[in-house]
Amino acid sequence: QAGTPAYPDDAPASAAAMARARAVTPGGVNSPVRAFGSVGGTPRFMRSARGAWLEDLDGRRYVDLVCSWGPMILGHAHPDVLAAVTQAAARGFSFGTPSENEVALAEEIVARVDPVEQVRLVSSGTEATMSALRLARGFTGRSVVVKFAGCYHGHVDALLASAGSGLATFALPDSPGVPPSSAGETLVLPYNDVPALEAAFAERGDQIAAVITEAAAGNMGIVPPDPGFTQALLRVTRAHGALLISDEVMTGFRASAGGWFGLEGPYAEGAPDLFTFGKVMGGGFPAAAFGGRADVMAHLAPEGPVYQAGTLSGNPVATAAGLATLRGCTPELYDRVGTAARAIADGVAQAFAAAGVPHRIQWAGTMFSVFFRDGQVRDYDDARAQDTAAFGRFFHGMLRRGVHLPPSCFETWFVSGAHDDEAVDHVLAALPGAVEDMLT
Ligand code: PLP
Repeated sequence: QAGTPAYPDDAPASAAAMARARAVTPGGVNSPVRAFGSVGGTPRFMRSARGAWLEDLDGRRYVDLVCSWGPMILGHAHPDVLAAVTQAAARGFSFGTPSENEVALAEEIVARVDPVEQVRLVSSGTEATMSALRLARGFTGRSVVVKFAGCYHGHVDALLASAGSGLATFALPDSPGVPPSSAGETLVLPYNDVPALEAAFAERGDQIAAVITEAAAGNMGIVPPDPGFTQALLRVTRAHGALLISDEVMTGFRASAGGWFGLEGPYAEGAPDLFTFGKVMGGGFPAAAFGGRADVMAHLAPEGPVYQAGTLSGNPVATAAGLATLRGCTPELYDRVGTAARAIADGVAQAFAAAGVPHRIQWAGTMFSVFFRDGQVRDYDDARAQDTAAFGRFFHGMLRRGVHLPPSCFETWFVSGAHDDEAVDHVLAALPGAVEDMLT
């Protein structure tokens, strides 16, 4: 019975594991958001995952609405992916030579996203954006990059930057360790603000190598581009000889079969020159990619002079997982994911409305997120103006009832094709009690 709390707030086995972890790993985690910093409490250590469900070290089961931050679109340990990975591993773990799965995965990506003519495989989304940026700079011979506030592109130095005081003023490092010289080649502009974009290009257009944007923002909650924003990015970059890098690490093969481009494109103004992908295309293994126009990609080593490499790039086990996952991404799969997402989002809206809690749900294809405020969210300032403390109480209300939400109100909620009626009903049953916990 999900309506009543199933689990106490303390989680002894996870707490013990966390104590061990803290001794040998900073903060006990290998990626900061996993530490529950913004919601408090003990992060749950998982020991297994199947379908829509996670199981922690205390043997508690949760419907997973994180899906490893996006990759697990078929559900955890999907039999087809498991078989592909097992067979690939039996043939060897890493060859350090070309292998056929790499070609097949590249073909699968190229077939799904029309403007992408060639891809280079890497091991993480961060590597993909970092390399795309280097390629854009090498191709244009320019160094300045434009990004948008609230968009996350991994922990690349140049992209870990916050807006300086004026629109065309170079950015400040967002983290100690990022040299001012790295952030100082980055302009940070407000998302969905065409006049700000035009002003920046009017001032520095001849220095700008590329604009990088989340195709639809998902790292400040879901903030899709306003109608016409992507077209304005294309128009302005084309006019000034800069490249447009569409970061589809999160939206790629998830918002739709063709990612955000598949929903909004093609555009009369042209197409993004480069794309970055990750998450779904690795099926839960470390595989990511950047790609785009063949004439731009031709600047990469060994064909061209821009250096980029990786010992494990195109790893045979990771590419087998990615390939099996993309092959499972059928129209029927997206229908199922969309239907489950819609049912959960409707349930959230109903539970919040019944209790008079301000909320706003925004979408990018089959992806959604919940803002703890009302009114449209168009940029990072809007996204930041929400009740983060209320989210923390709601999060723990859901956790107690066996639902694992992303542990921050700035994150997308991810569902999978394995979120069947049982999983969705479990989430829906948990909602009223969690809202009650949030209000008390
Ligand atoms: N770009 C986007 C849009 C992302 O959402 C992420 C990760 O969440 C990244 C890049 C970085 O990917 P990774 O965490 O695999 O380095």
